[in-house]
Amino acid sequence: MEKFNTDGIVIKTSVTGESDLIVFVLTRSNGVIRAFAKGARGMKSKLHAGSALFAYCGFSFSEKNGVYHVAEAEVRNIFFALRGDMAKLALAQYFCEILLKTLPDGQTDEEYLRLMLNALYALCENKKEILQVKAVFELRLASLSGYAPPVHACAGCGKFRTDEMYFNCLTGDLFCGACGRGEDAPRVPFAVVAAMRHIIFSPFENVFSFHLSPDLLPVLTRLTETYLQNCFQMKFRLADFFWTAAD
Ligand SMILES: [Zn+2]
Repeated sequence: MEKFNTDGIVIKTSVTGESDLIVFVLTRSNGVIRAFAKGARGMKSKLHAGSALFAYCGFSFSEKNGVYHVAEAEVRNIFFALRGDMAKLALAQYFCEILLKTLPDGQTDEEYLRLMLNALYALCENKKEILQVKAVFELRLASLSGYAPPVHACAGCGKFRTDEMYFNCLTGDLFCGACGRGEDAPRVPFAVVAAMRHIIFSPFENVFSFHLSPDLLPVLTRLTETYLQNCFQMKFRLADFFWTAAD
């Protein structure tokens, strides 16, 4: 039996046995680990708090023949503020769905964990608009996964900026006001393009730090949501659940 330590966040749980859980943990060093948490449903279990959804912990796992067990879970944050807000909770669950469906097996880039943690901190700290957090998560995750859309310039003529531009949610191509006419792509104000560029190109620690007027945030995140679904050619059903909860 091998033991190892890493930190990570629980992104899915399912019930098994009389009092056990199976937890899916997005870890810093080992991608998503599926592990048994023995007895974790018991209120007195030392694994109880650390195997709940959104628990961010220092984990100790044991592994034998490819089967993982949670040996210890030292809780660092449970993102308690999510529980009191339907829209935030729905959004966090949507993030989990995206991670579970899109992360390839063996993907160990720790940026995914950073993105998830920073998104949840941003939601809980209340400093960013919820739709801004959503857009950042969607577009930065697409970029991390190799689908950064080429929005640095117009795909037709190379122009950097026009007041209105066009973004093709299927290809990720951007067009200036002139080249975009006749393209089958929604028209977007330049401020939205600037926000997309920020999300894709800024250093990680600044990725949430941009200002877009509240009336344009829904425009931005409708685009990033559609683009992400097109990248992976799948529907994330919790997106609809989020929009209902946010209504
Ligand atoms: Zn152009």
